[in-house]
Amino acid sequence: MNSRELVKQMTLEEKAGLCSGADLWHTKAVERLGVRRISLSDGPHGLRRQEGRVEDIGTSGSVPAVCFPTGSCAACSFDPELLRRLGEMLGEECAAEGVSVLLGPAANSKRSPLCGRNFEYFSEDPCLTGQLAAAYIQGVQSCGVGTSLKHFAANNQEHRRMSTSANIGERALREIYLAGFEYAVKEGKPWTVMCSYNRINGEFSSENHWLLTDVLRGEWGFDGFVMSDWGAVNDRVKGVAAGLDLEMPGSGGVNDAEIVKAVRSGKLSEQTLNEAVERILNIVIRCMEIKREASAYDREAHDRAAREIARESMVLLKNEDGVLPLAKGSKTAFIGRFAKRPRYQGGGSSHINSFRVTGALEAASGMADILYADGYAESADTADDAQIAEAVAAARAAQTAVVFAGLPESYESEGFDRRHMRMPECQNRLIAEVCRAQPNTVVVLHNGSPVEMPWIGNVKGVLEAYLGGQEVGGATADLLFGDCNPCGKLAETFPLKLSDNPSYLTFPGEGDESDYSEGIFTGYRYYDKKEMPVLFSFGYGLSYTRFAYEDLKLSASEILDTDTLRVSVTVKNTGGRFGKEIVQLYVADNQTRHIRPVQELKGIAKVALEPGESKEAVFTLSKRAFAYYDEELGDWNVQSGTFDIRIGRSSRDIVLTARVTVHSSQPETRRFTENSTVGDVLESETGKRILMESLGKIGAGSAFSVEGMSETPLRTLRDFGMGRLTNEWLFSLVDRLNKAEWE
Ligand code: BGC
Repeated sequence: MNSRELVKQMTLEEKAGLCSGADLWHTKAVERLGVRRISLSDGPHGLRRQEGRVEDIGTSGSVPAVCFPTGSCAACSFDPELLRRLGEMLGEECAAEGVSVLLGPAANSKRSPLCGRNFEYFSEDPCLTGQLAAAYIQGVQSCGVGTSLKHFAANNQEHRRMSTSANIGERALREIYLAGFEYAVKEGKPWTVMCSYNRINGEFSSENHWLLTDVLRGEWGFDGFVMSDWGAVNDRVKGVAAGLDLEMPGSGGVNDAEIVKAVRSGKLSEQTLNEAVERILNIVIRCMEIKREASAYDREAHDRAAREIARESMVLLKNEDGVLPLAKGSKTAFIGRFAKRPRYQGGGSSHINSFRVTGALEAASGMADILYADGYAESADTADDAQIAEAVAAARAAQTAVVFAGLPESYESEGFDRRHMRMPECQNRLIAEVCRAQPNTVVVLHNGSPVEMPWIGNVKGVLEAYLGGQEVGGATADLLFGDCNPCGKLAETFPLKLSDNPSYLTFPGEGDESDYSEGIFTGYRYYDKKEMPVLFSFGYGLSYTRFAYEDLKLSASEILDTDTLRVSVTVKNTGGRFGKEIVQLYVADNQTRHIRPVQELKGIAKVALEPGESKEAVFTLSKRAFAYYDEELGDWNVQSGTFDIRIGRSSRDIVLTARVTVHSSQPETRRFTENSTVGDVLESETGKRILMESLGKIGAGSAFSVEGMSETPLRTLRDFGMGRLTNEWLFSLVDRLNKAEWE
């Protein structure tokens, strides 16, 4: 039976009932019709399958699984293929554990470094976020397991996350906060989407018709079902009408009864409810039809892959005097508790019961002669003189000191935001003291989001390991001792200090209002426009080898925005060892009519090169790469003109630039009124011709030097015309301007 026929057989109560969960992790079955329940489990960077009752929320353990690098870490790989593989492994684990839908990926855009859940999110850039999320979705779903793209949308803070309103203009919403989701929906085709807790411009996501129906389904073509985040329902009936199909985990029947009542009273049309039920059933039937052999996944292989993904993602931020890689067998001090017990994942619903965790100390034990010291206590931010003295002695006795530092678990988690961007003072002091004793000091960072680095000028090396999953220690050792070459680049900007961040003035808002007054200027879009120095720029990351760029080619020098543009560039490994380079393509709009970022990321490519080897990186750009969201038009639009195609090692290291002229296919619509300015009219030859003709007709052509009056409204010409320019003249001028064909 297909879903439509099933709906016809269901009672009103059964239909309302299917629109909420049976328990924390399952939909309801309708046994008399052979509809089975399906199971949902958290992601995003591992499988958290919990056997639990609603009463046990958050307390019952989950099955042992593999904890892969978190979103903020994996994003630095800039590698959709890798994310697809990650997705496939997660899909295999779900299949083995009988999970039908994995609750991930998390595609929210990073607004402030303080958001407690930044570690789960990919990037401050929607192009990167979208590509990674789509690949992850395709990977998971290739195993016959669904995904739930979350948290839709604008869930950029934990503070009052269930009530706050993210107040965002439509252009910023479209260009920054929705664009990653849009790409992921269109390219990844997730089976489900999870709506966010918060409100957007006053309306809860869980009852936002514009978001869940007009945009998600109408514009983007989403054909799965929308579920609520856990407990995100405010007004259930309004939610059904808006396009929220499944309430999770459910309200013990209270909201189902509301739906029944609303249908009976005519407040909610039964057809709308039927459509929601049909959408849920479509996915349930898909899950039921997938025949699974009793499968098991290869845990050890996934563990090895977790190590590889971490290696591909960690970012080498500083390497003065080539302090890294460390010589194998050298006497090395490993300082800091994170060397033994790494911080490798974040707290909250994504917390994985990792079947194994490898610290760097254990992983590097065969690689070097290692002296270890605790350095600091994790539980409290108090420097312990004895611990510091022990660390300093180890640093002094070694050829190099590596300090494993970062943010303790109590600093960042789902459920609350950070209050500042600093590391614990005890760690900053430790690093300062170690640097005094040992000039060759390297810091390895474990954190889910940027930190201030007051010691950056004193250390020789920094490796950003982020929250790198259960094999973070193995991957760190591989990179520190040069078994592998770092190739990750930052998927977010590290500002020098928190107050540099564009959301600083308004984050996390007042009461339940969070005004995103920085608009489209988030992340590098802001720092670039302000020409501000940053600690580490978006897209930045070092390697143990060097790369040269040459031969940037465009397939055309002039295109219509309906055409595609092929861009190619040759990258050569000019250093002495194998390495991978992440090539970044930014587009800069040279026109000035619209307020736009200096440049925006529109393409990524990762090339693997042996020493001396060259390869071409190829990008294809279409209209979106040049467009901005035109609120008046209600669509994406390109302003005709020239655009620079910039190829960079990072957003702040552009190595090659080429220019293309793009013509908009959108007919120019210009609306004029009596209050349009002379300058508005003179912007084009057509306008200038009409104005001069109209002045000439009544012999006033020479009475005005129109060029000097660009800020003057047309009505004021009438007033300065000393009676010669009448209202009739004014109205007919405006009329002619509005009827003109613009070139
Ligand atoms: C989180 C979601 C998660 C859900 C189920 C919510 O609190 O926001 O990301 O999938 O719980 O655990």
